[in-house]
Amino acid sequence: MNTFSALFLLALVIATGMRLWLASRHVAYIRRHREAVPAEFAPQITLEAHQKAADYSSVRTRFGTVHTLVDAAILLLLTFGGLLQTFDTWAARWFDSEILRGAALIGLFAVFSALVDLPFSYYRTFSIEARFGFNKMTRAMWIADLLKAALLASAFGVPLVLAVLWLMGKMGALWWLYVWVVWVGFSVFMMAIYPAFIAPLFNRFAPMQEGSLKQRIEALLVKCGFRSSGLFVMDGSKRSTHGNAYFTGFGKTKRIVFFDTLISRLNENEIEAVLAHELGHFKLHHVVRRMAWTFAVSLLFLWLLGLLKDAAWFYHGLGVDFPAANAMALLLFVLVVPVFTFLLQPLVAMYSRKHEFEADEYAARYSSARELVNALVKLYKDNASTLTPDPLHSAFYDSHPPASIRIAKLQSLAAH
Ligand SMILES: [Zn+2]
Repeated sequence: MNTFSALFLLALVIATGMRLWLASRHVAYIRRHREAVPAEFAPQITLEAHQKAADYSSVRTRFGTVHTLVDAAILLLLTFGGLLQTFDTWAARWFDSEILRGAALIGLFAVFSALVDLPFSYYRTFSIEARFGFNKMTRAMWIADLLKAALLASAFGVPLVLAVLWLMGKMGALWWLYVWVVWVGFSVFMMAIYPAFIAPLFNRFAPMQEGSLKQRIEALLVKCGFRSSGLFVMDGSKRSTHGNAYFTGFGKTKRIVFFDTLISRLNENEIEAVLAHELGHFKLHHVVRRMAWTFAVSLLFLWLLGLLKDAAWFYHGLGVDFPAANAMALLLFVLVVPVFTFLLQPLVAMYSRKHEFEADEYAARYSSARELVNALVKLYKDNASTLTPDPLHSAFYDSHPPASIRIAKLQSLAAH
């Protein structure tokens, strides 16, 4: 134990305490507003739907609390509890080569994390989502998804890990710069192949049928000056009744994807307005800017890891022997950074909410604010999203503005 241990434990207590406190505020706030639908939503949302949303949000938040506590315990087990050290001892017994030993350590960690997460994922799907009528997945489908995800993670993860460990061992003091280049290349590659090669392993994508909806969408695309290589409808209803629309890929592989659940619930005006919002994200460069941020932050973190990698206090402070394998430095860093950056979470959320407002304005300009309001209210209702989040909880975490503020802004745009 050293000063860094104390700092790390303090940060962990603060982050965990904050999470629990925000969750309890959120649940209490939702409970307090459970008995009446907020006035501005009263015409479209019944008390029954409002209460379902309140209960769904409360249950999910309480479940998140359990997850937070388990995560903190696991983190302590891995570090001070000596579990990572044990994994490393096993890996060293199996392999002589530094790279293979490191890859085995990361592999053991990945399998362990996946196993810890499994009961949570199972409970979320078959207890919570099922209880509120959202889940459509069978157990066979859940297991098949799991196996596919594991195969994909191995197929793409193992070569990436081997490349990173090789660079860390061979490239001297500037290894982090080389790793960053590989990381950026890998991310761009994954984004490029995702729509055509990975997403179809999980869902069916049918080209949108000819008809009035497709014509309207194409007219909107022309109006916004947007070119895509296809409009697709995805069988999201196979897994869940939650609806969505999104863009994937970039350049030549750029696609617009609608969940079938969205198409079946919204009318053509509303679908157009939702699409205009999504186009807004694209046209206002939100997507590119977010990517640039991600790459810049990962460069900063890799540089920081470059400094920590050979510092004995970093390992000793986390209960691990020094000198240690490069893979150990990577794992410790990935585990510890989120604890220290937790308090930056509100900034990330605020940045995202700013983009949401801008995309709403774009939709108001190119389509219709009033139709977007109608669509959002339907989606809030269908997804049982709470209309009354705790303001502080929302400010901390939410990527989208609270329903009432977002709708009020859109209504003022509609009035102009
Ligand atoms: Zn958005």
